[in-house]
Amino acid sequence: KRVEVPVTEHGIDRHLVDDRAIKVVRTLQQAGYEAYIVGGAVRDLLVGRAPKDFDVATNATPEQVKGLFRRAFIIGRRFRIVHVVHGRGRDHEVIEVSTFRAYLDSADATQVGGNEKTAKAELAGQAHAVDASGRVLRDNVWGPQIEDAARRDFTVNAMYYDPETQIVVDYHGGLADVKAKRLRLIGDAATRYREDPVRILRAIRFEAKLGFELEAATAAPIPAIVPQLADVPISRMFDEMIKLLQTGHALASLEVLQKHGLHRGVFPVLEAVFDERRSSEQRMAFVRMALSDTDRRVGEGKPVAPSFLLASLLWHDVLDGWNERRAAGEHLVPALQAAIDAVFDARIGDVSGRGKLGADMREIWMMQPRFERRQPNTAYSLIEQPRFRAGFDFLRLRADVGEAPAELADWWEDFSLGSDEDREALLAAVR
Ligand code: ATP
Ligand code: MG
Repeated sequence: KRVEVPVTEHGIDRHLVDDRAIKVVRTLQQAGYEAYIVGGAVRDLLVGRAPKDFDVATNATPEQVKGLFRRAFIIGRRFRIVHVVHGRGRDHEVIEVSTFRAYLDSADATQVGGNEKTAKAELAGQAHAVDASGRVLRDNVWGPQIEDAARRDFTVNAMYYDPETQIVVDYHGGLADVKAKRLRLIGDAATRYREDPVRILRAIRFEAKLGFELEAATAAPIPAIVPQLADVPISRMFDEMIKLLQTGHALASLEVLQKHGLHRGVFPVLEAVFDERRSSEQRMAFVRMALSDTDRRVGEGKPVAPSFLLASLLWHDVLDGWNERRAAGEHLVPALQAAIDAVFDARIGDVSGRGKLGADMREIWMMQPRFERRQPNTAYSLIEQPRFRAGFDFLRLRADVGEAPAELADWWEDFSLGSDEDREALLAAVR
């Protein structure tokens, strides 16, 4: 049932709504289409938070949307949407515009082979397709708004806000659930998890980020569905893990993962964190410090680099391997390199297109022994490195947990900020 909620009831503060999202909605409406702000942005507005990004839903097709904006790009295959881009460079902003989709019963969908690789040929030209376990591989059949709402995941994510009339459209009692701080999947929970097992991880992310509780029927099927996460492409799992860590509630995310029994066997990177066999107080202190720093930065609206975060989570794995190799007589730097290779193999695997991320992690780690040597030629070249700041922040983190001397971190901070004279004096002091 379609319920239209006026501003007097939902109380969304229009000042929290991004001007460019409003403009996109207006442009679509003036061209005769339906258009709304949708999903997580509406949910965040209802709890009084400024959304970090805005999605727009419309009955215009991707091609029609593209035709209305100067810089608009159709992207995605599994899920075709349009990116409308405003501004350039650093402060450019992307509004995602998606076309209302039909909610199709997975029983009616074309079923294609076992995994995404073998299914590729069968998938070509399909607008809607699922695999043998019901997982949705293509979702590009357009439909009315009522169906678009039904195929969204949680009731709190399935509301539409028209910034012109300030009306919220709610089909599934999302507003009441926001007020009750309750996460509820639309429809039969087990079916909805089977369509897309990543919804489990989304549930955990929203639980941690919003402090909402999973309603009983939404929580119950999770253990039975967890094994199906193994069929999700690793690049999507990886993105989802990064999102869990960048919610601004990374520590809470790990606790919620643990609460649902997903701290093992799901994310190899997090396995390193939860590994009780190896967990020492220092390892846990280091991880906690890294995550609470991350949470603080996100809270202040500052960017956090996934490379720094992952380098922190895996550091003690690297350190253990490094120490073992050195004890076996290998030289400092080759031992570190070999330890890093081993950790990449075990924890990251082949996530194609992550070359930059891996290179940045490696640089952060490889810089650590170089901080120990404070000689003129090496010190000057180190601070000229483009990734010096990340490497230094990492050293600072190590110092904060007592793993490196605070004096060393202070010295590098002074050296990197100092004048030529300051630097000469600092070098002389350690000669
Ligand atoms: P965040 O604040 O983290 O961005 P979000 O709810 O906006 O959370 P997005 O991934 O940006 O999450 O997705 C936007 C909207 O698209 C969601 O609110 C939901 O309505 C819908 N959606 C996204 N992923 C799924 C999914 N796996 N299944 C069903 N609906 C989804
Ligand atoms: Mg979003």
